[in-house]
Amino acid sequence: MHDVSAIRNIGVIAHIDAGKTTLTERILFYTRKIHRMGEVHNGTATMDYLPEEQERGITITSACTTCEWGEHTINVVDTPGHVDFTMEVERSLRVLDGAVGVFCAVGGVEPQSETVWRQSEHFGVPKIAFINKMDRIGADFASVLAAMRTRLGANPLPLTIPVGAADSFRGVIDLVGQDFLTFDPEDQGQTVRSRPLAEDAALAELAAPWREKMLETLAENDDAFMEEYFSAAFTPESIQAAVRRATLARRLTPVFAGSALKNAGVQPLLDGICAYLPAPSDLPPVQAKTPEDEPVEITCDAALPVAGLVFKVLLEGGRKLAFVRLYAGSLKEGDTCRIVNRGADERVSRLYRMHADRREQLDEAHAGDIIAVVGLRCAATGDTAASRERQVLLESIDAYQPVINLALEPRNADEGKILDEALLRYCTEDPTLRSELDEGSGHRIISGMGELHLDVILERIRREYGISPRTGQPQVVKRETPTRAAEAEAVFDRELGKQQHHGQVSLRVSPLPRGSGIKAAFGFDTALFPAPMRQAVLEGVDNALQSGPQTGYPLQDLEVTILSVQRKEGQSTPAGFHMAAGAAVRQALENAAVAVLEPLMFVEISVPESALGSAISLFGTRGGKVDNLEERAGMKIVQGLAPLSRLFGFSTDLRSATQGRAGLVMRFERFDSPDLI
Ligand code: GDP
Ligand code: MG
Repeated sequence: MHDVSAIRNIGVIAHIDAGKTTLTERILFYTRKIHRMGEVHNGTATMDYLPEEQERGITITSACTTCEWGEHTINVVDTPGHVDFTMEVERSLRVLDGAVGVFCAVGGVEPQSETVWRQSEHFGVPKIAFINKMDRIGADFASVLAAMRTRLGANPLPLTIPVGAADSFRGVIDLVGQDFLTFDPEDQGQTVRSRPLAEDAALAELAAPWREKMLETLAENDDAFMEEYFSAAFTPESIQAAVRRATLARRLTPVFAGSALKNAGVQPLLDGICAYLPAPSDLPPVQAKTPEDEPVEITCDAALPVAGLVFKVLLEGGRKLAFVRLYAGSLKEGDTCRIVNRGADERVSRLYRMHADRREQLDEAHAGDIIAVVGLRCAATGDTAASRERQVLLESIDAYQPVINLALEPRNADEGKILDEALLRYCTEDPTLRSELDEGSGHRIISGMGELHLDVILERIRREYGISPRTGQPQVVKRETPTRAAEAEAVFDRELGKQQHHGQVSLRVSPLPRGSGIKAAFGFDTALFPAPMRQAVLEGVDNALQSGPQTGYPLQDLEVTILSVQRKEGQSTPAGFHMAAGAAVRQALENAAVAVLEPLMFVEISVPESALGSAISLFGTRGGKVDNLEERAGMKIVQGLAPLSRLFGFSTDLRSATQGRAGLVMRFERFDSPDLI
């Protein structure tokens, strides 16, 4: 029976080292408990945990892992730990309905979790928080709550609070049910013991002010609960209902305490995910467009025609596995669906739900589900799969432009073959990664979003394929642009394959402001100029603009106006016009004072006041210019632009110049002349 209200599509947002992996492990472990307990009753239970654990290590990295908690199906969407992978963050935030923010009870709210948290606000994602590592020395629950207020602008609502901290951390108090919960270390926390607070005066006293504060905060943020509060007519159920309303409205963030490593506090968090985060059907309809650009709303309804977003593809033994978030409709094996943005029909050959330790083949998937589909051969990240009857386009996931290149040189032919196989796979799975063979040198040139992005790819090549090709120095990707207008005329007149091809084109190139892209148009009435030749001229122009005279990189921000064309009876051909147009563009560019543009990065550095001076001066030596300086929760925030070509190794230098106290976020801003900043 399909019950969309029981589905939770969630992601885990965390700073590196906050404990995301450890927590996710526990979530997957406890959610299989029911399954395993069944086996305990059959007397078949063994410690079959380890071999599966190894398998899980692989599947955890898949795009989405499904588990069951009570009546609920939880789809855990993988979110990257590093904000440098902007597109990865965006793709996961697009398809999840709620998120769990994990914070370290010692480190608190670190800059990277702040960035992702804010991005999730931008996408309107309701959240709950888990304050982890309560067992560590220096753990301070209250100060993390304070940091959530000041750094995230969140309104935290603790629902469980820790009893003790560091060595004395013993368990958590459930403020709604008024119980003290402990987690048995003997069975990795699977057994949760619950004792009413009423039985322990000291704990009851500890909990009382927290509970009072919880009720007050709830009353302030939910009108219906306000009335119940003042007439003292509330119950645990009505508290939960109010928490749910306030969470979905993003007025409050429920907070849970625990220690993933010590197996404490995770089950209440799982209960909280199911109780307070939204089901797909709780959310407003998704905005989409028809191919004719008319707006349409997609409501979460399994009876409507199919609409799904491909948010990740993985290659697995040569087969493409497309991860799809279904927003409407139902999908069965054997169904044909249209990949709308590619105009192609594909047949669904298999549907899977990916679990930690196995994949489950499905006969059918429904609105609200996240599933892996085999058979969508042409689909890539950001594509829309829809029914042919109602073709719609969901907002795509922006593919960012690669800005950095790195040459890889295989050590021998065998290594070259393995390298090509690895690169084919990574490029299919990651739309921000490109790879090209340099015919002359035999090097593979890979391009990506930044130094770290390519480092991660290299690391994976070494680890997953066991090869370590030699690498060159990273180079920034460039663009070219004309800085003044120029005109040229070119004639093409040659015999190619026994046929004469003629074309004659005169045109003008002129500069446009940054961000304008490329415009090409005819500056005269083309009624008498046949369509195939018109098309050939535009293709010839486009082709020539792919490779600029200075660096061979593409041109941008210019306008090409075709001033006139000449035909020669019986000899003019589309091929002739294609060649003539290209030659005319190249000639015009010679006189257009073409400038080279480089990637400029937006850089944000957060440092304590005492390290501000060193951070700014280091940024200056890298060609950076500070545009904005502000303060956020006691940290100085420096924002500005710098050319990527001078930022290699910057994060390492910044760390040593500030004794490791600086946080750094960089993203591509635009291609421009580095002298302009
Ligand atoms: P991630 O980078 O967010 O995925 O964090 P990990 O799960 O890899 O954890 C980072 C480190 O913190 C590891 O050494 C974990 O063992 C440790 N860790 C995770 N959770 C806890 C916790 O609750 N208490 C303590 N003391 N350490 C933890
Ligand atoms: Mg991790």
